[in-house]
Amino acid sequence: MINVTVWGENVHEHKNEKVKSIYPNGMHNCIADFLNKHSEIKAKTATLQEEEHGLTQEVLDNTDVLTWWGHCAHDQVSDEIVKRVQKRVLEGMGLLVLHSGHYSKIFKTLLGTSCSLTWREAGERERVWVSQPGHPIARGINKCIELEQSEMYGEPFAIPTPDETIFISWFEGGDVFRSGVTWKRGNGKIFYFSPGHETYPIYHNEEIQSVITNGVLWAKAEGTKWIDSCPQVPIDSAKEPIKKGN
Ligand code: ZN
Repeated sequence: MINVTVWGENVHEHKNEKVKSIYPNGMHNCIADFLNKHSEIKAKTATLQEEEHGLTQEVLDNTDVLTWWGHCAHDQVSDEIVKRVQKRVLEGMGLLVLHSGHYSKIFKTLLGTSCSLTWREAGERERVWVSQPGHPIARGINKCIELEQSEMYGEPFAIPTPDETIFISWFEGGDVFRSGVTWKRGNGKIFYFSPGHETYPIYHNEEIQSVITNGVLWAKAEGTKWIDSCPQVPIDSAKEPIKKGN
């Protein structure tokens, strides 16, 4: 089984009636519910409001893939927890960063750039084009996903050049965006997927659900945990006999 922790900021759902009506149990529960439909996935949730944001060392040690949705409370996430999550990603935990998570502390920490973008909220049409049809994250998507209403996220997107660009979005207003991109950091795989603005029912869309499920299957750790401790190798334990000063 792949153990997934779905992290949700869980703020808009309590303040905005429209968001509450689309996600009565919160976006995090909607995401966990569709992930749990897959026979190999066991998804639980964690939120900002919980002790240690629900991301204790024990929770993270037992997480194969973490998904992250945040927007208006990025600054309320403690730096200590961000460090803890970063360490787990470097060890091999997968990370899916969703929508406005592009500005989260964890995403910016792992990528090392500002991760800014352009945006517009006009309820315009978005086509999420598959640019790598053979990629496991795009499995089951035929050419593109049509979203009747979406928030525009556009270029320039201030990220390091991705290892892979799986999706490129087109918007009704003419903008384009690298909407599904991957990196590796240490032993961990990272997938950023942009659709998911809180006032549109995007996480109820079955094709969006497929992409996120595929992303979890792709990002799960392969093999053993990488303990990144920078150990000294004693001279007398070298494979070939050597002396200091050789
Ligand atoms: Zn948004």
